Amino acid sequence: MSFTKKLNINWRIIENVIFVFAFGFIMYKLISDYWLYIYHSVKGKGFIGDVIDPISTRDYYKSVIAIIVMLNVTCVLWEILSLIILLLKQESGNITGHGKYKLIFKKVLVNYKPSFLALLIVELLPKLFLIHMFWIWLPHFQKIRLFTINLKWYSWIYAYLCLELAVWVYHFGLHRVRFLWCLHAPHHSPTELNLTVNWVNFFAEGYYSTLVYIVILTLFGINPVMFVTIMFISTTWGTFAHISERALKNGKLGILQYLIITPAHHRVHHAKHPLYIDRNFATAVPLWDWIFGTLQPFKEDIRADYGISRELDVTNFFDLYFGEIVLLYRDVKNARTLKNKFLHIVMPPGWEPACSAKTASALRRDFLKTNPALGITSRNRILSAIKFRSKMDTPAPVQASFASSAAGSSVPLEPAGEIV
Ligand SMILES: [Zn+2]
Ligand SMILES: [Zn+2]
Repeated sequence: MSFTKKLNINWRIIENVIFVFAFGFIMYKLISDYWLYIYHSVKGKGFIGDVIDPISTRDYYKSVIAIIVMLNVTCVLWEILSLIILLLKQESGNITGHGKYKLIFKKVLVNYKPSFLALLIVELLPKLFLIHMFWIWLPHFQKIRLFTINLKWYSWIYAYLCLELAVWVYHFGLHRVRFLWCLHAPHHSPTELNLTVNWVNFFAEGYYSTLVYIVILTLFGINPVMFVTIMFISTTWGTFAHISERALKNGKLGILQYLIITPAHHRVHHAKHPLYIDRNFATAVPLWDWIFGTLQPFKEDIRADYGISRELDVTNFFDLYFGEIVLLYRDVKNARTLKNKFLHIVMPPGWEPACSAKTASALRRDFLKTNPALGITSRNRILSAIKFRSKMDTPAPVQASFASSAAGSSVPLEPAGEIV
């Protein structure tokens, strides 16, 4: 439940005023920089210069980066401006005058207040920004390096898979440890997905994610010169995965859905349905989700309503940003024993001393009891086949072994409707 229901109305007005200034300033900067970047192309500089110049020095990756950044910013601007134009067109027929603009403002708040205010906080705290910490911390972890890989093409694939492992590990932790969830909940609070949702991060989440990145990438011998490129790919694709349904309706990307994490996969990650909750932790490659059993495809007949499971007005930024921290503080304060105080901090969200029925794992398990086929992936089918094969090889009666295996396993044995 919302802890700031009675929050002073004046505070909400102050929040909205700050949002209007942040929205106006950031949009002005984005549009003017974007226009100047294109305008300078006429003189062979700007965007055209950034794409053409690196070709002469064979730094092709710089050209690719320039194109990707351009596409990214174009999509963000198009998504925001087209929504405002759409709202102006849609609402004008129904409500007139002051009421019309009030409704439009409310919809802009729902879509963009969390992202612009979260971005403002990160901008006001530049020393806490991830990339700064990354380079400051990196030298201190060099001793844990097991080896260092070369820069051949296959090493880049290895490096990216290690990065994805780091993403899976830190993201899984953010969802399964309550005090880490306090840092990640703002990102999951928006009820509408769009590219700017990638900006909604509690600033302190960067400390934790940077630590996991550095430990895993250094331990597995990733050459530091690879860090910037592989993290750029990850961040860019991570942003694209939040694209709105208005801009990309289906989001499955055809056959690519079997090879990479698509916007449809990440929509599942943001959805609060028991089937979808705590699934698809990866950014671009579904390998680790597949191996660790957390991959869940989007199902056409299961709606993806976004947000977190508690009651929350997404335009209440204070609640969105600090709400989970306050609620954790209250639970720890009210816990009767020292052990329970500690468990509240480290157990998954939804855990209570008396029962764990409201954790994501329990909710999903209960849902799959009545809908087992919905949770099946190709991993389940392979594991079932291996178990079946091993039972076949034993002298025990096949049918009896198969039945006991199914009863003792959380892996359903019914045929899957979709291979993932
Ligand atoms: Zn998440
Ligand atoms: Zn996300």
